[in-house]
Amino acid sequence: MRKPSKAILHMRRSGIREIFDLANTIPEVIHLEMGEPNFATPAHIRAAATEAAEAGFTKYTPNAGIPELRDALAKKLRERNGIEADPSQVVVTPGGIAALYTTLLSLCNPGDEILVSDPAWPNYEMIGHVQGLEVVRYPLLEEDSLEPSAEVVERHLTSRTKVVVVNSPGNPTGVVADRERLTELVELTRHRGLWLVSDEVYDEMMLDGGVAPSAAAPGAADHVVSVFSFSKTYAMTGWRVGYAVAAADIAELVVRTQEPTTSCVNGPAQYAALAAIEGPQDCVIEMREAYRSRRDRVGSLLTEAGVPHVRPRGAFYVWIDVSGSGLDGTGFARRLLVDHHVAVTPGAAFGIRGERFVRISLATEPDQLIEGVERLVEMSGGAV
Ligand code: PLP
Repeated sequence: MRKPSKAILHMRRSGIREIFDLANTIPEVIHLEMGEPNFATPAHIRAAATEAAEAGFTKYTPNAGIPELRDALAKKLRERNGIEADPSQVVVTPGGIAALYTTLLSLCNPGDEILVSDPAWPNYEMIGHVQGLEVVRYPLLEEDSLEPSAEVVERHLTSRTKVVVVNSPGNPTGVVADRERLTELVELTRHRGLWLVSDEVYDEMMLDGGVAPSAAAPGAADHVVSVFSFSKTYAMTGWRVGYAVAAADIAELVVRTQEPTTSCVNGPAQYAALAAIEGPQDCVIEMREAYRSRRDRVGSLLTEAGVPHVRPRGAFYVWIDVSGSGLDGTGFARRLLVDHHVAVTPGAAFGIRGERFVRISLATEPDQLIEGVERLVEMSGGAV
């Protein structure tokens, strides 16, 4: 009897997608569940892709990316993130997700354990499952302000642990880990002979300005692999451009792993990314300012209604405790969708510590966002 892959058949779908699919069966839904910027990719970035396509850059590129982009990324990493890296250490990938996938594939053997926070973006668990890895969750504790703590991580290490994954600014919480906490994680993983994979795709989505601290800075940390993306910073989700930066030998493995998976990112998208990095950055500031002002408006609505939530410093999500409604996050999200036509993501999609919560995205048209939050507040028992 022919049977397809067990790993794929039994992979849990992302809870974000599940709500999105249900929402598609209901008319006139306000969508607060997707982490996708509501802005168009800036015009100069789109133009660079068109020019590249017209100029004939439509063939395979080197697996690691076009040299101009790797050079520009090494400069960006140095100037904005404080990471000293040679262009040979930078690998251009089809989005941050592919960088995470090929990095874990390059570092781990089936059966190895990877440590992932609870709550965390669900795709880490999906990648682990597909690659035959054991995903062990370490909690983000309220007493640590939901920042990852080396002490907590250490308690979850076993002899099979290979990689610790950290994500700051964090999805779904919007929490930004400070430099000291990252340094402790870098030291712990160095000392215990582990890899630290640092997902920094929201590095420039710091709502009060600046760039988030990077695990790999300052100084070269050979066991840290950092992952970045153009998706959120430049509203380029559909272009699929991200990058990983690692010690040269690991970067080389990631490039090698890219050969049988995707080969390379499409040429015009790489030229678009180059224009994004080298061009004017006002578009980033404008989008960030828009998210900041939405955060402040949503924050006031929730605070006035007495609905507990985390005020995000980074990324563009608000993590809301809806237990005051008497429902858990999943029951709340379903009822909010079916009765009030607002789609939010149940916190359980991010791990069991998310059960009391729902996540909303600030990357939504402001009128829709405010209307959606007002309905949410009403349902959670708060006064609008
Ligand atoms: N990491 C986190 C925490 C994310 O939230 C996302 C997207 O939502 C990604 C990585 C991947 O983004 P992309 O593959 O579009 O670069």
